[in-house]
Amino acid sequence: MRIIRTIAELRDAVRAARQDGRTVGLVPTMGAFHAGHLSLMQEARTGTDLVVVSLFVNPTQFGPNEDLSRYPRDEARDARLAEGEGVDILFAPEPAEIYPDGFATTIHIAGITEVLDGASRGAHHFDGVATVVAKLFGIVAPDVAYFGQKDAQQVLVVRRLVRDLNIDVRIQAVPTVREPDGLALSSRNIYLDPDARQQATALNRALAAAAEAVDRGERDGAAIVDAAARILNDAGITPEYLELRTADDLRPVTVLTGEALLAVAAQVGAARLIDNRLLRVSA
Ligand code: AMP
Repeated sequence: MRIIRTIAELRDAVRAARQDGRTVGLVPTMGAFHAGHLSLMQEARTGTDLVVVSLFVNPTQFGPNEDLSRYPRDEARDARLAEGEGVDILFAPEPAEIYPDGFATTIHIAGITEVLDGASRGAHHFDGVATVVAKLFGIVAPDVAYFGQKDAQQVLVVRRLVRDLNIDVRIQAVPTVREPDGLALSSRNIYLDPDARQQATALNRALAAAAEAVDRGERDGAAIVDAAARILNDAGITPEYLELRTADDLRPVTVLTGEALLAVAAQVGAARLIDNRLLRVSA
C-alpha cells in the first residue's frame, strides 16, 4: 500500500491504473478506523481494481463548538488496518493541500441539507461535506465511491451532488456495522465512558422499538416516533432530533407507506451520536 500526500502524485497513480484498464474505487474517511470503515474498504476491494482510501479530517464540516481539535487521529494504526484490507493507496493530505491559500468555493445543496443533521449542526456541515467530496471526486474520478448508511443523510447529499453536477461516479451505500449490543460503530464511541457506553445502546433499541411498532401494524408517524422516544426517555436521553422522514428526500412522514427513515441524534455523555433505521411496510 502506498501512502500519498499530494494531489499530483495521487493523480499520477490513478492515471497509470486507468491506462492499464483498471477500475477505481474511492472510500472517503476521516480516519480512526473501525469495522465500519473496514467494511467499506472490503466492498471497494471486491468491486473495483484500484482501491483509494482518503484519510482527511475535514475542518470545514466541523462547527466552532464541535470536536475538530480532539477528533481521534492515529495514522500509523489506520495505515496498518487499511493495508490489511488490501487497500492500494491511502491518500492522507495536509489541510493546505486540500484548502490552499485563496480557496474560495463552497458547494451548497438546498432542501435535504436543511433538516436533521443540517438543522442540528448548521448549514456549514453539509456544505463542508459536499465541497470536500466534490474535490475528492475531482481528484480521483472514481468509478465507484463507497459511503456508510450510518450517515444516511450524507448518502442522500452525495447522491444529490453527483446528480446535480453530472459527476460520473456510482455511489454505493454500505450497511451500518454494529457492536454485538447494537451500538453503531463510530469513531466518536471512544469518547464514551462505561456508563455512557451502556446508555448509548438505547439509540439502537429505540429504533428497534419503532420497527416493532411498525411490524405490529402501527402506521401513524407520530406513534412510531413515540415508540422510539419512550426508550430514549427511559434511558435518560433527550434527542437532538428523532424524526421519521421519507427515505429519498427527507420529507416529514405523517403516515407510513412503503419505506421511511427514522433518524436520531443525541448527546450521550461526551459523544454526539447519530443512528438511523429504514422502516418498511411489507406489501
Ligand atoms: P467517517 O470517518 O466517520 O467520516 O466515516 C467514513 C465513512 O465510513 C462514511 O461513509 C461513514 O458513513 C462510514 N461509516 C462510519 N461508521 C460506519 C458504520 N458503523 N458502519 C458502516 N459505515 C460506517
